[in-house]
Amino acid sequence: MAEKMMGVVYHGKGDLRFEERDIPTILDPRDAIVRVGMSSICTSDFHIRNGAVPIAKPNTILGHEFAGEIVAVGDAVKKFKPGDRVVANVETFCGECFYCKRGYVNNCVEGGWYLGCRIDGCQTEYVRVPIADNGLIRIPENLDYEDVLMVSCILPSGYFGAELAEIHPGDTVAVIGCGPCGYTAMMCARLFGPARIIAIDRHDERGEFALKNGWADVFVNTKKEDPIEVVKRYTDGRGADSVIEMAGKDESFQLAWKLARPNGVVSLIAMYEEDQRLPLPSMYGKNLVFKTGGVDACKDQMLVDLIAGGKLNTRPLITHKMPLNDIMHGYEIFEKHLDGCIKVAITPYER
Ligand SMILES: [Zn+2]
Ligand SMILES: [Zn+2]
Repeated sequence: MAEKMMGVVYHGKGDLRFEERDIPTILDPRDAIVRVGMSSICTSDFHIRNGAVPIAKPNTILGHEFAGEIVAVGDAVKKFKPGDRVVANVETFCGECFYCKRGYVNNCVEGGWYLGCRIDGCQTEYVRVPIADNGLIRIPENLDYEDVLMVSCILPSGYFGAELAEIHPGDTVAVIGCGPCGYTAMMCARLFGPARIIAIDRHDERGEFALKNGWADVFVNTKKEDPIEVVKRYTDGRGADSVIEMAGKDESFQLAWKLARPNGVVSLIAMYEEDQRLPLPSMYGKNLVFKTGGVDACKDQMLVDLIAGGKLNTRPLITHKMPLNDIMHGYEIFEKHLDGCIKVAITPYER
């Protein structure tokens, strides 16, 4: 094992550098060290770079979406041993506190979003994963890294959005935002048996991608049509039973509550960089349910099982693949949606 590795390091607002770092070691008996086999770049990495994530610590390697092979485990790790292939969870959690026992792992007293935010993450070659028994999921034999890479973050986030939305069989679900998390919200919404999923975005190619993959049934381009009118057309003038907001802009926040029918559920999973205004007088009597969330990612095993069973397929999201050497280029094409980029898979550093 080399002693140094390359990684994308956050040095404070607006400052990311690809530079050399020390290889991590076990610090706590519950730790595992994972050699990254494949990682990805997430929109929330840009939120950190933009200074919009107050908990993020400067001098931290970014990245929280990865799969790889365990190279070392601490004495207290029970489920894993070196050589195991695993996919990591964006969230660290103890599994034992008040919140964990209720499934609210995002608010775990010794957990939450650490990897690639408060401690070194995965846009590098080796990662120290705390509380590895909870933070890692074994990859079934028949799956490879590309099958499970999205289980770290955007698939549980999409599932969480769909779950918060309280979808019933036969419902109409509107999903705002045809980005990676919008797509996973759609494919997970499908698991709850809605009559239709209406995808909303400003770009035809992004909406068509959702239709082509069978994640949405209807696409509305907000530059061409009024989504409120379209949703009403499908629902006898009522509005959507559930709305999942994944775009994270002022307009999309306002659109979310307007799309919902009276007594509907608005599920807000997007990360906003600004405060939002809730115009309570305008929505008085509409009796909406709003739910917000940073993902409680404690259903990763179930998601891996659904992938292994052919019920979920996130592979089409990986539109680009490149070695760690080129990751800064990956950041650029992902951020600017160049060349139809949805998600970038980063393969190991090539020496
Ligand atoms: Zn992510
Ligand atoms: Zn806990």
